[in-house]
Amino acid sequence: MKKNGSKNRNVCLIPSSAHGTNPASAQMVGMKVVVVNCDSLGNVDYEDLKKKAEEYSDTLAALMVTYPSTHGVFEEKITDICDLIHKHGGQVYMDGANLNALVGIAKPGNFGPDVCHINLHKTFCIPHGGGGPGMGPIACKKHLEVYLPTHPIIDCGPASGIGAISAAPWGSSSILSISWMYIKMMGSEGLKLATQNAILNANYIAHKLKDHFPILYKGKNGNVAHECIIDIRKIKSETGITEEDIAKRLIDFGFHAPTMSWPVPGTMMIEPTESESLSEINRFCETLIKIKEEINKVKDGTFDKIDNPLKNAPHTHVELTANEWKHKYEREIAAYPSATLKSYKYWPPVARVDNVYGDKNLFCSCPSMDEYKETAA
Ligand SMILES: *Cc1c(COP(=O)(O)O)cnc(C)c1O
Repeated sequence: MKKNGSKNRNVCLIPSSAHGTNPASAQMVGMKVVVVNCDSLGNVDYEDLKKKAEEYSDTLAALMVTYPSTHGVFEEKITDICDLIHKHGGQVYMDGANLNALVGIAKPGNFGPDVCHINLHKTFCIPHGGGGPGMGPIACKKHLEVYLPTHPIIDCGPASGIGAISAAPWGSSSILSISWMYIKMMGSEGLKLATQNAILNANYIAHKLKDHFPILYKGKNGNVAHECIIDIRKIKSETGITEEDIAKRLIDFGFHAPTMSWPVPGTMMIEPTESESLSEINRFCETLIKIKEEINKVKDGTFDKIDNPLKNAPHTHVELTANEWKHKYEREIAAYPSATLKSYKYWPPVARVDNVYGDKNLFCSCPSMDEYKETAA
């Protein structure tokens, strides 16, 4: 920016669908974050983007855009969006976390972004979180090459570079070797197939669930990208059952719940990826449909509004095997809501810990702190 004669380009436009890491990164480097709205299909609202790009034309530094977006749709105007930002003197940073929907089938460089990071722990197999720091290459267009990092000990990067950004100039070799092996073993055909399967799996789930839970965002052709968002807000207002109750009930069925209330509060974002088998995806969909039937029973009064298997989920082995059963529904419904659970059952070790409602004796099956102390003594 300085090189182009601009002194105060510090505005970073970020669509409201962005991951929190986007505004956090921009803010950390002293940029002013301006949020761009999304339309009812989940796309960046192009008119709002245009208005803000014009408004901040003198101070616009960058747009951070995720493609496909966290709303699970392929932003249709991505090329126009990039052109617009360039026209107003900004650079486009593409959040590459959703590369799982692009590898082998699209070339992000051609849409117009200038920089893109590749989350190896998303698309290229390295463990997330506890398996080591999230890391990965940051790719840029040729005109930014002169600003790439250098290193004081290992000779790399351009003379005009920005200095070292990490202890090891190309990142951690012990982690990177995992991604390297994954790419080698998959091959170009395998990587492409993984992308196709990730998109197919998300669409399969969206189509299986659409009559039971509204799919919040879809593209013009009625399809989603690599993930789909199911909307729980109407269920919540009609029955009092929340996305959290569904997440907890999934544990009784042996599932770890999908992402809750992100990027839209009151929803669940389901991203199956390519790695789940068809039978597991079917089991997951059947479970959510079963849970919807339970919700219907709350709605029509078959289940109590408060003392029902959803509000009390997950049910621990201690509660399920206790002499006394205090709930207004059968013990069997709590433990074995589907027949397959009789041959394979996950036994939740703890009930809800931090969110106990009303009468503790009725709703909390875990011992109190005093009871813990007694056992420990
Ligand atoms: C996961 C994700 C990130 C951040 O990834 P880290 O796991 O924090 O490295 C950024 N943007 C999007 C869209 C993501 O899904």
